[in-house]
Amino acid sequence: MFTCEELLKLLEKAGAVRHGHFELSSGLHSGTYVQCALVLQYPRFAEKLGQALAALFSDARIDAVVSPALGGVIIGQEVARALPALGDAIGGGVPAMFVERDGSGTMTMRRGFTLKPDTHVLVVEDVWTTGGSTQEAISVVEEAGGRVVAAGALIDRSGGKIEFPVESNALIELLIESYEPDDCPLCRQGTVAVKPGSRYARSAS
Ligand SMILES: [Zn+2]
Repeated sequence: MFTCEELLKLLEKAGAVRHGHFELSSGLHSGTYVQCALVLQYPRFAEKLGQALAALFSDARIDAVVSPALGGVIIGQEVARALPALGDAIGGGVPAMFVERDGSGTMTMRRGFTLKPDTHVLVVEDVWTTGGSTQEAISVVEEAGGRVVAAGALIDRSGGKIEFPVESNALIELLIESYEPDDCPLCRQGTVAVKPGSRYARSAS
């Protein structure tokens, strides 16, 4: 299992921690961006990270994992793989489903995924900045009839400040400052925030 230090080393090794001036998907600005996809692109690392995250919830009964797409999909799959499958009628293990935004930007459960009433769900994401996507995923699961018993992430970049209505655990808590665009010291220095996934960010890095 990973210690916090080992996980940070792994993130550094994969080039997943970047410095600059970023506009995060939450709309907030930050000088540091953590791109978990760069670690999760390696299946053996993804598998180990999934095992470590799943271990934080070993006391809970979990029937299904649900993740907000896209960021949560790979880690959600690996957490589900690592969980004990109780009453697994099909033989496929704990299912890993995902919710995604429709054309209007509303988080929805599509693709024929269904949750039987009282299915115990763990919501899994890669990084919590404001926790907004996880919060939306929790609402979608509850509307679909599931019962969210816990939420997990690889990294909580709020340093533990986010409060969810369910038990929540991140593999590591990092306190990385993020700012409202109106109140961003990097903007005041005159640089322009880039979206980390954009072409500009890639050429500038
Ligand atoms: Zn800014």
